[in-house]
Amino acid sequence: MLNIALFGPPGSGKGTQSEKIIEKYKLAYISTGNLLRAEIAEGSELGKCAKSMMDAGNLVPDELIVQILEKKIKNLDKDEKGILFDGFPRNLVQSYIITGLLAKLNTELTAMINLEVAEEELMDRMLKRAAIEGRSDDNPETIKNRFVQYEAKTKPVADFYKEMDKCYTVDGLGTIDEIFARISKVIDQLK
Ligand code: AMP
Repeated sequence: MLNIALFGPPGSGKGTQSEKIIEKYKLAYISTGNLLRAEIAEGSELGKCAKSMMDAGNLVPDELIVQILEKKIKNLDKDEKGILFDGFPRNLVQSYIITGLLAKLNTELTAMINLEVAEEELMDRMLKRAAIEGRSDDNPETIKNRFVQYEAKTKPVADFYKEMDKCYTVDGLGTIDEIFARISKVIDQLK
C-alpha cells in the first residue's frame, strides 16, 4: 500500500492538495479534521466533546481521534491501494498510533509530505478562507492558537519522520498546480 501523511501548518493547503492526490493516486482519504466536523454536524457525543476544543484552536484528545479513526478504518475497502492521511498524526503520541493502526492492516506509513509555507503567508490565506468557508475556527484569535499548538506539538512529528528518512519537504508556495507537481514528483519516486 502507498500510505502518505500530508503534513504542514494550518493553512498550508493540505485540504486542497489532498483532493488532487487522492484523485491521481486513487487513495482512500482520512482527514481527522473533516471527520471531527462531520461528528459535530451529526450532533454526536464525540462531536460535542470536540467542538469547544476545535473552536479554541486546541488539539482534540488522542482518545477521541482513535475513536473516529477506528470507525473510519472499519469502513475502508479491503483492497484499498493506500491511504492519504490529512491532519494526522498531529503529535508524537499520534505517530505511534498511526504505526499501530497501519500494522493492523499489515502495512506501514510510506512517507510524510511536509508542505512548507512562511507564517505571514499562512495567516493571510487563512483569513481569506475564513471569509469564504465560514469555518468557526478560522478567526484571528483561534488561528494564532492553532499556530502555537502546531509549533509546540505538531512540528516535532516532522523531526520524528526525518530521523526515519521518511519526511519529504515540499515548497508550499506557488499555484495549486505547481505545488501539486512537486508533490507528485515525490510520490512518483516512492512507488
Ligand atoms: P484541520 O481541519 O485539520 O485543520 O483540523 C481542525 C481542528 O480539528 C484542529 O484545530 C484540531 O482542533 C482538530 N483536529 C484535527 N485533527 C486532529 C488531530 N489529528 N489531533 C487532534 N486534533 C485534531
